Amino acid sequence: MPETVFSRRYAADEVIFRTGDRGRNAYIIEAGRVEVSIERKGENVVIAELGVGEIFGEMSMIDDAPRSASVTALEDTEVVVIQRWRLMQPLESADPMMNLLLRVVLARFRDAQRQLSGIKNGISSGDPSLEEIRRLAFKRINTERDMRQALENGEFEMHYQPIVSLDGGHVAGFEALMRWQKADGTFVSPGEFIPLAEQTGMIVELGRFALEVGLRDQQLLAAAFASAFPDLAAPFMSVNVSGLQLSELSEIDHIARIIDESGAEPADVKLEITETLMVENPDHAADALHKLKALGVSIAIDDFGTGYSSLSYLHQFPLDTLKIDRAFVINMDKAENSRRIVQSIASLALALEMNIVAEGIEEAVQMADLKELGCQYGQGFHMSKPLPVEKALELAASGTTW
Ligand code: C2E
Ligand code: CA
Ligand code: CA
Repeated sequence: MPETVFSRRYAADEVIFRTGDRGRNAYIIEAGRVEVSIERKGENVVIAELGVGEIFGEMSMIDDAPRSASVTALEDTEVVVIQRWRLMQPLESADPMMNLLLRVVLARFRDAQRQLSGIKNGISSGDPSLEEIRRLAFKRINTERDMRQALENGEFEMHYQPIVSLDGGHVAGFEALMRWQKADGTFVSPGEFIPLAEQTGMIVELGRFALEVGLRDQQLLAAAFASAFPDLAAPFMSVNVSGLQLSELSEIDHIARIIDESGAEPADVKLEITETLMVENPDHAADALHKLKALGVSIAIDDFGTGYSSLSYLHQFPLDTLKIDRAFVINMDKAENSRRIVQSIASLALALEMNIVAEGIEEAVQMADLKELGCQYGQGFHMSKPLPVEKALELAASGTTW
């Protein structure tokens, strides 16, 4: 079986996914039974029980809509997890095993559809016809082709946003953020193209690009920074890495090679990952992160507080930095709640010996507040927007502090 198709066990009563989750995977039940339920007027109504050989989660693979149902294991259950982006790869480039699996899933999908069609408001959000499914699949393939073309044409570039030491007020590092400017001059926002790249699998190539360019520019930025602050540590470079890039072991090796060949000091490299990876396949995630850590780089957990965030699993992973999502920072001075959340995240990080970057600082007062709460680093429009490399170099050399 390909590495990206893996199986997972759930104990009785464990939730496999819940209402409101974004769909990423399909599941085939290998052993055990699950219960499908939906929320109706605030109550949980069981609409189906599924057993060995049946599949669920499939609708979300197509439309990325939040799931309208919850699925819970009724007994010890083992499922094969099929990641959506794999199914959306162009068929001819997918491996033969995947091709076969795709056929099996589609055949089973039709059966499951028939079976569930009697259930109103069930697991499916509408019942797209096979025609519709094909249309969407082709759309994905076209998008992938456009992005690959754009990458070859040099339409992607990296911008850099300073990450500032709240203590000294100087630049401590930069986050590399990708920009796509089309040939006609228009910008496509990362909020739009990154999810598409994840759906098509193109994020793997874009991710390599971000790392290569980011680590090359880190060395230029470090040299510029040293001219202003010869006694301070070189600014690190924080690069976003999608969970999909880490789902295959061969790609982790590729990432390791890029870091190795970049000439950057591994200690100056930070990889930002999100929680999804750790929640969906914790064992694999732990392996992957340990492999990366062994290179000497540090690992940050991004957008902390927005996802499934169970604080309890954090210690299982080799994480160095926690990035508090901007949603908490924005509301800090307006809602006592948000302030308390920031405060408890800060003390949690302290206990786990992690450092904190607060994202989305737009006002001076937030900067002072976050410092008082024990955050070491901050990032946001108050200090600087993400800058093209020439501007970032000017900033690094200027000796600016905030
Ligand atoms: P992110 O990793 O959470 O990046 C921070 C985003 O917040 C950036 O948006 C940045 O421009 C924005 N931001 C920073 N300070 C402020 C502020 O004070 N106020 C507000 N309102 N926004 C602020 P951007 O560049 O549009 O990127 C959006 C997302 O796209 C990123 O969120 C990240 O998830 C993804 N992304 C961008 N570049 C890459 C990449 O190279 N690889 C991957 N995998 N994802 C990327
Ligand atoms: Ca980030
Ligand atoms: Ca973030």
